[in-house]
Amino acid sequence: MPRVILKPRKARPFHGRHPWVLDSAIDRVEGAPADGDVVELISDRDQWVARGVINGQSRIRVRLYTWREAEALDDAFWRRRLEAALRWRGWLFPEEQETAVRLVSSEADGLSGLIVDRYADYLVVQVTALAIARRLDRLAPLLAELARPKGILVRGDREMSRLEKLSLPDELAWGQTPEGPVFVSEHGVRYGVDLEGGQKTGFFIDQRDNRKAAAGYFRGRRVLDLFCYTGGFALCAAAGGAGETLGIDSSAKAIALAKANAELNGLANVRFEAADCFKSLEALAGEGRRFGGIVLDPPKFARNRQGVEEAMRAYHHLNRQAVELLEPDGILTTCSCSGHVSREDFLHMLAEAAQRSGRDIQVLEQRGAAADHPTSVTCLESEYLKCFVCRVL
Ligand code: SAH
Repeated sequence: MPRVILKPRKARPFHGRHPWVLDSAIDRVEGAPADGDVVELISDRDQWVARGVINGQSRIRVRLYTWREAEALDDAFWRRRLEAALRWRGWLFPEEQETAVRLVSSEADGLSGLIVDRYADYLVVQVTALAIARRLDRLAPLLAELARPKGILVRGDREMSRLEKLSLPDELAWGQTPEGPVFVSEHGVRYGVDLEGGQKTGFFIDQRDNRKAAAGYFRGRRVLDLFCYTGGFALCAAAGGAGETLGIDSSAKAIALAKANAELNGLANVRFEAADCFKSLEALAGEGRRFGGIVLDPPKFARNRQGVEEAMRAYHHLNRQAVELLEPDGILTTCSCSGHVSREDFLHMLAEAAQRSGRDIQVLEQRGAAADHPTSVTCLESEYLKCFVCRVL
């Protein structure tokens, strides 16, 4: 087996089961492995550390999958990992065919680079590592056998494809493609999901519990859902007894589906608009509009550590403006899905928004992604979603 030898004093994180070996930690590679091949990770003292898959094109040179020397990365291994991931979700959601569920959550499930979401009878796979892309022809039939879907669609991730130097077109990996949207339900609200043309895998499943939590505070209030996509928070709020609700997103396609979703649920107290949220915030402030509840769920602002400062400025700008639009005692549900922005950074940003606006902000709930999107404590990068429910005095 080819060997990847670490530099002196670089083995510690990998003994600690962190799954990403960066090129900067590597002294040399022995045995000329091809990209996608299994390699042994060895310390500078010739100690076996872990087993993984190499990608010479990526800064994450080796992705580690097992720390047990006797465990081969063969078909039986991938099956065991998939079974373990699916068993947990089966227990979390017994017999709920209509709930959208993340079946496999990459690092947290010991499957770095693989995301699998279930939407009713279909699976959508997102591949963020070449190690997984090279094994898809074996993983797809395994998933089909274990989850028994009608079809498995693969969706590319442009950013990760660039970082991993892999080209993976959107394609049907198994079975059939759904005709039109697939319907899921969440807290009694139904959503159509566009598996082929939607963002990411089609729906932001990670926000499931946060939508419900926010809706609980929105009862009887006029609500503004910014970056609403297909209406996740807005529809949950409207169905949960919010007053007049307005959702805004820049994607015309997402807004069309959000409108169809409102109709599907027979909700008359919600409206959707395709617009840029930064401009809408200015316009709403200019018109003197006020809300009893606001959701801010923007896309990832920080792509890397270098981008954090600029991202924090954007978060501050948005949150500050949202605070200004809130009535006294208003509820601000504010999120960040940038993994590089910490909870602490985010709270500091909120403190600044409070100071600059002269309003007090109380954090009522500090939330993260739902339990089908776990965080591995040995790979804290697997935590990315932060959601704070606040009362703005
Ligand atoms: N809250 C949504 C998920 C939001 S994802 C849910 O619960 O499902 C982020 C969204 O921001 C995407 O739908 C994207 O289209 C939108 N977006 C990105 N930049 C935007 C901008 N400048 N103005 C409005 N929407 C934007």
